[in-house]
Amino acid sequence: MTTEINIAIIGAGVVGLAIATELSQQQKGVLVIEKNRTFGLETSSRNSEVIHSGIYYPADSLKTRFCVEGNRLLYEFCRKYDVGHRRLGKIVVATDEDEVGKLKELYRQGVKNGVGDLRLLSRNEVKELEQNVEATAGMLSPSTGIVDAHSLMRLMYGLSREQGTDFVFDTEVVGINKTGDRYSVEIRDREGTSSFVTSILINSAGLYSDAIARLAGINIDEAGYRLHYCKGDYFNLNSPDGAPVNRLVYPLPEQAGKGIHVTPNLDGAVRLGPSAYYVDEPDYRVNESQRETFYQSVKKFLPRLRIKDLQPDFAGIRPKLQGPEDTFRDFVITHEEARGLPGLINLIGIESPGLTAAPAIGRYVAEMVRRLC
Ligand SMILES: Cc1cc2nc3c(=O)[nH]c(=O)nc-3n(C[C@H](O)[C@H](O)[C@H](O)COP(=O)(O)OP(=O)(O)OC[C@H]3O[C@@H](n4cnc5c(N)ncnc54)[C@H](O)[C@@H]3O)c2cc1C
Repeated sequence: MTTEINIAIIGAGVVGLAIATELSQQQKGVLVIEKNRTFGLETSSRNSEVIHSGIYYPADSLKTRFCVEGNRLLYEFCRKYDVGHRRLGKIVVATDEDEVGKLKELYRQGVKNGVGDLRLLSRNEVKELEQNVEATAGMLSPSTGIVDAHSLMRLMYGLSREQGTDFVFDTEVVGINKTGDRYSVEIRDREGTSSFVTSILINSAGLYSDAIARLAGINIDEAGYRLHYCKGDYFNLNSPDGAPVNRLVYPLPEQAGKGIHVTPNLDGAVRLGPSAYYVDEPDYRVNESQRETFYQSVKKFLPRLRIKDLQPDFAGIRPKLQGPEDTFRDFVITHEEARGLPGLINLIGIESPGLTAAPAIGRYVAEMVRRLC
């Protein structure tokens, strides 16, 4: 491995890969460092694979901006490179009169965010679209869809490599020292510890992005960068009757997540989830005791659901800046010049809609880098 490079990206999840794809079109000497044996083995392969439309967040947030732009870019990218995806559409349901007000609020938020194709639905209109769904009212989001996240990342990995980006796997960043106007990055692999020097360092380390910021000398509590882990379990619906829905069906969102939703996959299977609860450490075992909670929650709008059809599937962990008692926190995507760390770009708290937003984040970070070079 060369010891002096131009730009280093920490983390080969979908965000690091999207940044590498964009950057390698314009820059030479890009290196991606990943601690696992290959790309995309953490949060980027443990999620709902939903292409969100951008209805849930404040209009002036990065989450909205990159989700709305990412939705468009991701469909374009999938069409151009033949990545598996389907624009299924989604219905958010209100299951009683109290929830109808919240549904209308969500509709107004979505319209304000620039999601132009939303439509409120009556009980009968929901039924016409989804015969197994019971709801007092609904909202249709036609531009919501699903994507094969692994194929997407494989494509981005291949493109970045063709454009000259180098990747090192099984290599963990364990130290960062500022030396003059560059960074000396200490890495550990099977052979031991070594280091290289880079002018620009991009931290897209997902669940460990706060730890990387700390390695760079940032007090993460003062900066508001400490991450909270919020787990989401999934159950498969293993029903002899086949898929009960044609579209994604969501309840109204909760404090920490979007609610346990029903998602038809590209392979025709149906998945329920994710739940949302805070944990101290990442642990990917599905909490089977949640079966009853899943059942009760989804049965409200899918009354024919049978608890025996729910099989544990997998779990993912959200890297949240928002703690259990907090209100909304946005993505942090920032050049740390003001902290005396020019050339360091931190991406922290890239939870949902990070998969959807990735292509837009990639463009944004590449533009930041272009201005620095
Ligand atoms: C339950 C759940 C459901 C979700 N559903 C959706 C959805 O439907 N739609 C959507 O748009 N988004 C969704 N998301 C969000 C989305 O999955 C994430 O925002 C996105 O995958 C984040 O990608 P990333 O590249 O930032 O992180 P990651 O995929 O975690 O990648 C970070 C990489 O950095 C590496 N790394 C960490 N530390 C080091 C180190 N020291 N040295 C070297 N490498 C390191 C890790 O090994 C990892 O590969 C969901 C998330 C969860 C948890």
